[in-house]
Amino acid sequence: MLIIISVIVYLLVSIILALAGRTKKIGFAKEFFISIFLTPITGIVFLKKSDRKEIITITRYRCNNCRLEYTEYHKYCPACLKEGKKSILIPVKMKSI
Ligand SMILES: [Zn+2]
Repeated sequence: MLIIISVIVYLLVSIILALAGRTKKIGFAKEFFISIFLTPITGIVFLKKSDRKEIITITRYRCNNCRLEYTEYHKYCPACLKEGKKSILIPVKMKSI
């Protein structure tokens, strides 16, 4: 009985550490396997060593006519507007880590 409880606790701790690993560069799967096979104590060490995952979503506005990209929203592409063309900018979302 005690063994079963120990195994459940072991697995739960590993899952908790793996969930914490999702916000780090180590990630869920890697943290989970380290905790399972190398004990959760090793898992904690790896978790502490791993840097935070930083995901920034940047929206840029691209002109399909001249391929220029803008960081700010414009109704029409300013470069194309100078040439008398009304080219609508398309928002492009980019994720960077
Ligand atoms: Zn343009």
